[in-house]
Amino acid sequence: MNAFELFNPTKLVFGPDKVQQLGELVKPYGTRVLLVYGGGSIKRSGLYEDVLSQLEGIGASVHELSGIEPNPRLTTVNQGIEICRAENIEFVLAVGGGSVIDAAKAIAAGALYEGDVWDFTVFKAVIQKALPLGTVLTLAATGSEMNGNAVITNWETKQKRAFGSKLVYPKFSILDPKLTYTVPVNQTVNGIVDIMSHVFEQYFSLTTDIPLQERFAESILLTVIENGEIALANGSDYDARANLLLAGTYALNGTLATGVTSDWATHGIEHEVSAIYDIAHGAGLAILFPNWMKYVYKERVGKFVQYAERVWNIDANGKSEEEVALAGIEATRAYFTRIGAPATLGELGINGDQLDRMAEEATQFGPIGNFKKLSKEDVLSILEASL
Ligand code: NAP
Ligand code: FE
Repeated sequence: MNAFELFNPTKLVFGPDKVQQLGELVKPYGTRVLLVYGGGSIKRSGLYEDVLSQLEGIGASVHELSGIEPNPRLTTVNQGIEICRAENIEFVLAVGGGSVIDAAKAIAAGALYEGDVWDFTVFKAVIQKALPLGTVLTLAATGSEMNGNAVITNWETKQKRAFGSKLVYPKFSILDPKLTYTVPVNQTVNGIVDIMSHVFEQYFSLTTDIPLQERFAESILLTVIENGEIALANGSDYDARANLLLAGTYALNGTLATGVTSDWATHGIEHEVSAIYDIAHGAGLAILFPNWMKYVYKERVGKFVQYAERVWNIDANGKSEEEVALAGIEATRAYFTRIGAPATLGELGINGDQLDRMAEEATQFGPIGNFKKLSKEDVLSILEASL
């Protein structure tokens, strides 16, 4: 096990109707609030009114930035930064999915930085301070509600980049499983795939002697696999939605990464696909991850055998290690297909034209990943297998 530090200051407030505590949770941070949300789902569900009445209850003056795109854009983030400066905003409140939360983090950091917020994504500057932010999560997927990461797209240059800082952890996140009842089937699928992918990025590690982290990861995978199918069959199943929501948070709140060298190559490759084609993050991951697995499993077959046996119940009797490992990878693909996720870039109308550019961009700072260090040529092979 590697040495590590674990830091997570986000207060989780989990359960039905917990949005009724929003006013009290915001109050310590000030009354000048920027409310950030997406394309309208919170208006259709009625959550918007509940949020406003909570903010009115503490006498907050509320400014709004709506229309955060899935794959949030730098231009929209900059609009939020301008509002923060013009209105002396004290607190940023994100109400929505990971895109809204990520945009809010970039706004919170950018508002107190004189340069271009994009600098944080290209290692040109490190976040020194940020406005406090909080979230009301409406979609189980990214874990952004309890981590310090954000992913932003620069649509002009077709780049999608992440940054991370201890200073942009949400002060609190309200998680009411009922708020996820209205998540449509395709977004529920994308969320399931994203959660599983976050676990894969940390589970497929060369670090040894980490039984607790491995079993924790496997239990999240099993929980998501089971509850994902229940939530897809009945979107208003409270327990299934609650289990998915909590799994999403634990998959990427730092717990699985303790003592482990994580990978993150597949997320890096997916970001390049999304940057050019603006596809849903989960859809891209569903296509790429089984192909990454097939490309790298020989680096440590035993880990993939363990995955196959413990997560997919593959019977190893009479099979070689390689056959068991491959059966686990096939089971992953079969699950993604069963829940309705795409398996090829072609299904999303993407041809091979831009693969070289994507591989180049993904490796511009050097090889990516740790389970197997991937060069540009390796990334290209995985992309080609994904066509
Ligand atoms: P999202 O992009 O935030 O939302 C996807 C769609 O779901 C939006 O159209 C949204 O509509 C809708 N939606 C959200 N909640 C809903 C609800 N309760 N009912 C009905 N519709 C709802 O999806 P996401 O998967 O959470 O976030 C994806 C982004 O996060 C990507 O950019 C990805 O790269 C990034 N990401 C971040 C991290 C991290 O750690 N920070 C990790 C992985 C991925 P509205 O816009 O109308 O609300
Ligand atoms: Fe992700």
